[in-house]
Amino acid sequence: MISPLVDELAGGILRVTFPLPLGIDHVHCYLLPGTDGWTLVDTGLGLPGAEDRWREVLAELERPVARIVVTHFHPDHAGGGEIVQGLTGAPVLQGARDYELCERVWGREDWSDRMAGYLQANGLPAEIAEELRQESRTLAPFIRFAREPERIGEGDDVDGWRVLELPGHADGHIALFRGGVLVAGDHLLARITPTVGLYPESRPDPLGDFLESLARTIELAPSYALPGHNEPLEEPVARAREIVDHHRVRLDEAAAALAAGARTGYEVSLALFDANLDPSGRRFALAESLAHLERLVREGRARRSGDGGAVSYTGT
Ligand SMILES: [Zn+2]
Repeated sequence: MISPLVDELAGGILRVTFPLPLGIDHVHCYLLPGTDGWTLVDTGLGLPGAEDRWREVLAELERPVARIVVTHFHPDHAGGGEIVQGLTGAPVLQGARDYELCERVWGREDWSDRMAGYLQANGLPAEIAEELRQESRTLAPFIRFAREPERIGEGDDVDGWRVLELPGHADGHIALFRGGVLVAGDHLLARITPTVGLYPESRPDPLGDFLESLARTIELAPSYALPGHNEPLEEPVARAREIVDHHRVRLDEAAAALAAGARTGYEVSLALFDANLDPSGRRFALAESLAHLERLVREGRARRSGDGGAVSYTGT
């Protein structure tokens, strides 16, 4: 391989890395060798220049891309779908629930407004909500997801890889598993914990989902995992345990933040996360705090009041 975008990993798997402009500075896609060509997992973001980068990568492959799998609908994974589908002509496979979210979130014009309104109802100051609204509108043209993919789900076989549904980081998150190798998307990451947030279109308890998916991962005991960001995981089970522990601690911190009286999600996010985050960092922090608060509600450790209007949480 000559392209600086591509690394060769164990088992003949290729890793393609693209730069990202916001937050994490890169995303990985993977090419899995198979009987009829490559299975490409994830597509990057549809930024200007993405098409040229993909052309450069594809030109070096001696075999065709036979299919494209999207692990989850987040822009850095699904946003280049239309581009790479156009360049390869390969079918796109995506989780059914995940594609539904793609349509309901990126496919609708009012997403920026719904998101900003929702965050404001959870205490986010109006000027930060307005910045996020603008940022979301700026990002929208680069989310070029593939339309009408083939829907896949738990237990399906994709060229010898088993599809796992691992909700949490995204409600419809899927991964591929074979011979101890987990192509993990953002379900497991080294150095950073995958974000778990409550959003307008989310399932009601994403952290509960995530903790169950982590327990399942520990049971499946993969020996190696290929994540959407950062380096491969040599000890995925240990990493899954660390992430579970991280959330247990954070649940206690969220409960402690309610000790002095009712708090909005935004106020709790100031207690749990750095107080000086940029608007996009604050959005993740707030959505993540809400995921923890909703888990506390389900565990009987908090109560929510003010549905639909100004929402706040109280300890029990
Ligand atoms: Zn990601």
